[in-house]
Amino acid sequence: MKPLLQARDLEVTFDLGRHGRLVAVDRVSFDLGHGEFVALVGESGSGKSTTALALIRLVPPPGFISSGRLLWWDDRGETPVDLLQLSPGRMRERRWRDIAMVFQGAQNALNPVMRIAEQMVETVRTHQAMPRDEILDRAARCLRMVRLEPSRVLRAYPHELSGGMRQRVLIAMSLLLTPRLLILDEPTTALDVITQAHILELLKEIQEQLGLTMLLLTHDLAVVAKTARRVLIMYAGRIVEEAPTEDLFEAPYHPYTRGLLQAVPTLRGDLAAKRPIPGSPPDMRHPPSGCRFHPRCPYADELCRRVEPILEEAGGRRVACHHWQRIHQCAPLPEALQ
Ligand code: SF4
Repeated sequence: MKPLLQARDLEVTFDLGRHGRLVAVDRVSFDLGHGEFVALVGESGSGKSTTALALIRLVPPPGFISSGRLLWWDDRGETPVDLLQLSPGRMRERRWRDIAMVFQGAQNALNPVMRIAEQMVETVRTHQAMPRDEILDRAARCLRMVRLEPSRVLRAYPHELSGGMRQRVLIAMSLLLTPRLLILDEPTTALDVITQAHILELLKEIQEQLGLTMLLLTHDLAVVAKTARRVLIMYAGRIVEEAPTEDLFEAPYHPYTRGLLQAVPTLRGDLAAKRPIPGSPPDMRHPPSGCRFHPRCPYADELCRRVEPILEEAGGRRVACHHWQRIHQCAPLPEALQ
């Protein structure tokens, strides 16, 4: 069966005028299957949010999609539509209806002087003509799905709701036009741990109930473990590892993935064992030669400094590292996995 969406060699460039150009997303390729829950993981600045914005063609200037294809397969799975070839008007029609996105920190983007009901009506009417009563019925159904009481929430102004409730309102809003793909950018950041866990549980439930495809963007592998079936790891604008979640947690192949896992606090281990990855992500105006992770990688050698590794098949997953086999066989697992 064809996937719902195939990104092929997707590249996003920022034109910085006299400071040159910055390639924030560099030849990224991946598939999103029908009804699949996929996580895109990386540190801040890795390019994951820009990748997501490219999927809905909302990269803000001076950024632009400089190459690639975004193949969207319809229900019959016969001929894909390249979303990058659609006119701006046609693409606007597909946003929310086919692909919806809950942006990072969006809880604060709700209009503070409008009741939730009006914001939901406006959201739908921007994309589709529909009687108000029908929209409110739909809104009530979506709010119930995220376990909010419609009679109370629809009448409320955003400041009358907690951060967790506002986040759930946004998720409900994103479901109003029954999209096929829902992208969530760090949906639980800035929420307390209990609310976080509750929202992740809800997302999983909604995804299973509606058979939606979900792409969750996060820097936190602990969030991934609770939700996604498959994980894409992104570093410095490139995908460096892709694997089913279970396999990735059992045996990460890429040193960057190992580093991310090492940084996750364990239930048994003491907090001192939590080790952040040394160094910082590269300045993307001047990315390192060869493997972009080499200045931070404990296994880097001359080959890594000179030659960029390609993303290759590695037994049901993909990994971009010259030495993944040796590292996988010989290096001890991160503390989080022992
Ligand atoms: Fe480390 Fe080299 Fe692999 Fe890059 S290619 S992750 S530097 S071992």
